[in-house]
Amino acid sequence: MNDLLTKMFFGGFVRMHILYHATKEDIFGVEMMEELARHGYEVGPGTLYPMLQKLEGAGYLTSQSAIVAGKTRRYYRATPEGAAALEAAKAKLGELVKEVIDDKPPRPSIKADRRSSPEGGKAPIDGEMS
Ligand SMILES: [Zn+2]
Repeated sequence: MNDLLTKMFFGGFVRMHILYHATKEDIFGVEMMEELARHGYEVGPGTLYPMLQKLEGAGYLTSQSAIVAGKTRRYYRATPEGAAALEAAKAKLGELVKEVIDDKPPRPSIKADRRSSPEGGKAPIDGEMS
């Protein structure tokens, strides 16, 4: 996977994906890596496990370990805070999809605002407001 794309965009997509599955069922690392690979994300353990730990540290996931076939496996599940974070992210994602994928701006564009403004288009710019 392209490192720059991963850093800039895909990290958020992957975290959202993890949170989505963790609201549905208990998830564990290897299974999640396979699921992400199915969607075209090559996420190795060196990326996934720190991500899971950070999500848990943020209070979005909770975990418990179990012994499976003689090995310790850590299962993760979304907390209510994680589910709420996913809902907030979904709202943003829905809006982004509408604009970027469907190419339909959710509100009039800045250009349209300027054309219709009575002062002839001097919208205040952030930082210049008194
Ligand atoms: Zn999935």
